[in-house]
Amino acid sequence: MNKFWSETVKRTEPYVPGEQLDDPDIIKLNTNENPYGPSSQVTEAIQSELTRKLHLYPQSNAEELRHEIGHYYDLDKDHIFIGNGSDEVLAFSFMAFFEQHGKIRFPAITYSFYPVYAKLFNIPYEEVPLNRDFTISPEQFFGAEGGVIMANPNALTGLYLNMEAIEEIALNNPERVLIIDEAYIDFAPVSAASMVKRYPNLLIVQTMSKSRSLAGLRVGFAIGDPGLIEALMRIKDSINSYTIDRLAIAGATAAIKDEDYLRETTAKIIGTREWIIPKLKKRGFHVLPSQANFIFISHYKEKAEPLYQALKQLGILVRHFQKTDINNYLRITIGTDEQMAHFLRAIDHIVPTSAVLIDQG
Ligand SMILES: *Cc1c(COP(=O)(O)O)cnc(C)c1O
Repeated sequence: MNKFWSETVKRTEPYVPGEQLDDPDIIKLNTNENPYGPSSQVTEAIQSELTRKLHLYPQSNAEELRHEIGHYYDLDKDHIFIGNGSDEVLAFSFMAFFEQHGKIRFPAITYSFYPVYAKLFNIPYEEVPLNRDFTISPEQFFGAEGGVIMANPNALTGLYLNMEAIEEIALNNPERVLIIDEAYIDFAPVSAASMVKRYPNLLIVQTMSKSRSLAGLRVGFAIGDPGLIEALMRIKDSINSYTIDRLAIAGATAAIKDEDYLRETTAKIIGTREWIIPKLKKRGFHVLPSQANFIFISHYKEKAEPLYQALKQLGILVRHFQKTDINNYLRITIGTDEQMAHFLRAIDHIVPTSAVLIDQG
């Protein structure tokens, strides 16, 4: 604590991101990055932008990129907002829609950035407990005083809430905004984006970091009624008119256009996910039914923390959260088939009894 700090700084509890190690020998399964890398069209677009216009400011409202994302979802560009990663879009949304309305609600187990923003912006919140099987009961989010935010598929658990449930929550909060953070939606059945035309209180937030393998470029976006989008623009233009640089606009525009590559790589990751789940179950793990590019697992006997440490010793980085109710779980990002085979071999090395289980069928 420093005497020059403002009250705002004093009450913050910053988010702690997953470790980023530069060692190329580490198998990184801890921050849900996509192992396949972006489409070659993305790198070509960035290369060509690089040789031309870096001395000029970018388009402040990223018109072309908004148009392309709108096109992808069959909406006009006035339904789209672009941010420097979806984390920025989420931060702006808390400011734009949640301040001074009373307590907002989010699930007790979810993306751990939500309470961070709430504290930063002095927004009171209620954490709604999940059911024992980690599912969400939509009714618990009806009539929220200040609004609702949730991730779908949910962060940490990977569980997906169907469209009827999302619609019910939107319907039952007509005076407040419902934010659905769809960071992992391209690994799941369907986005709620098509509902924004019917629900002016529904804001969908997505990212290019996961399914489009562009975590390093920092591009996220919101989809919503033009009234909500205008609010986000007003916040952005009161903080920094140029949050998205020229290289990011060029790369993200190419990424959204290359639908074939998106389909091909997400299908591979979903295939690997479905391949590894039964293998882990045979080894004594409880695996939640994920619709994301990660799985949330717990061993019937081995504790999660020492397992995390042992995997790290073997050069495999996964995520462990020191939080009641989930401290015996590990979150494993789905990598390539080769990386996941390596992960399984490491598990068999650390927990040899689990290999015995398999032999017994
Ligand atoms: C990864 C993630 C984000 C952040 O994505 P960026 O666009 O990289 O900032 C937001 N929400 C959830 C649930 C995430 O998992």
